[in-house]
Amino acid sequence: MLAVASHDNSTGAAEAAIRCRVCDRLLPLRAGKPGEPVTTWVCNGCGATQPAVLDKDCSLEICQNVRPAFFDFDRHKLSPPPNIVVEAVRSLMETQTTPFQGTERRPRPRTPIAIAVPTLPLDGRLRPIHDPLMMLTRNISCGGIALIHTQPLIAEYLAVELPMPDKRRFQVVAEVLRVRLVDSLYEYGGRFVTKTADRC
Ligand SMILES: [Zn+2]
Repeated sequence: MLAVASHDNSTGAAEAAIRCRVCDRLLPLRAGKPGEPVTTWVCNGCGATQPAVLDKDCSLEICQNVRPAFFDFDRHKLSPPPNIVVEAVRSLMETQTTPFQGTERRPRPRTPIAIAVPTLPLDGRLRPIHDPLMMLTRNISCGGIALIHTQPLIAEYLAVELPMPDKRRFQVVAEVLRVRLVDSLYEYGGRFVTKTADRC
């Protein structure tokens, strides 16, 4: 499911990848250099975990053999989005009349929805680069999400915790495709590339 490979390097893929120590599956990972931050990865074949650095030169096929482990943080310590954000998103949703009905050209219609979601900014190798924070959703589709925040963030990916009916914690990772200024707030538009492993 992971789709963060920068390109399909089928010739050098096998050399770049390492093998899962349990099930021998090729994984798009390398050991961290001294002092280099790592992410915990979960093998999709056997569930074994491994702290490592994502090797984005591996083929998409190999990249699909792992997913990031659940990014565990105390979401109750996060401040809710300030009222200015809530009000701005509310007014944006009121001024949006019918862009999501009938004439929606995208294959995946977006649903306007404003909910506070714990979000963790990640770098290009899915390593946290900022403390977790609360963002407000503007819309969600099967394929992506738009999030509103008060500050600009340099994040290539965002791990977003979506509310589930059974209160289970569920995280998806979205690649940030665009950042734009909306009424002095920042809107981050992203497409989902993977979900994290379930929380242990
Ligand atoms: Zn494995």
